[in-house]
Amino acid sequence: MKIIKNKIVIASHNEGKIIEIKEIFDDFKYQVYSSKDFNLQEPKENGSSFEENALIKAKFTAQKTNLVSLSDDSGLCIDALNGQPGVYSARIAGKEKDFNLAMNTLQKKMINKSNKTCKFVCALSLCWPNGYNITVKGEISGHFVWPPRGNLGFGYDPIFQPNGMQETFAEIEPKIKHSISHRYRAFQNLKMKINFL
Ligand code: IMP
Repeated sequence: MKIIKNKIVIASHNEGKIIEIKEIFDDFKYQVYSSKDFNLQEPKENGSSFEENALIKAKFTAQKTNLVSLSDDSGLCIDALNGQPGVYSARIAGKEKDFNLAMNTLQKKMINKSNKTCKFVCALSLCWPNGYNITVKGEISGHFVWPPRGNLGFGYDPIFQPNGMQETFAEIEPKIKHSISHRYRAFQNLKMKINFL
């Protein structure tokens, strides 16, 4: 399968994700668009896994645009909370997408937990208008930290400290985050499956 007209649509309205994925695609010859460029609504994400939700978004966008679509479904999974917020990572930030609120909500649940281990997970789905798709996952393990530190990145970056580092994702240069993150690892897995990326 080939990328149609050398164009890819990122199936997302999340500016943070769009910026990161566009940066990943800097090395390639494709023109990269996002759902916003086509005035697309967000489909209902009612899957029970990151992979299912990634495929829902990519399929919807590929069918609406008739172009190949790449979607990202990601989130933070905290071990002491049985993997929550997981696929609900965006939802607990509310309609206003208030991640200070979301981080505070998690902190309240974490106060009495001694185990702070958690991971960021990212599923990427590359889908063609006919429904053919390649869907992969990437993860990075680390610790929940409080108070939040740093103002780079987006979402839960200020409360996530990757294993082996002293800084949170919001304290390191985006370039460094992009060379180790769950999104980067998922992208590497995608590249292994398709030889034109
Ligand atoms: P969704 O995949 O659009 O349902 O949203 C997942 C949510 O997880 C995002 O809105 C972010 O808040 C959070 N998330 C996913 N990846 C990252 C990341 O790299 N840094 C910080 N937060 C993230």
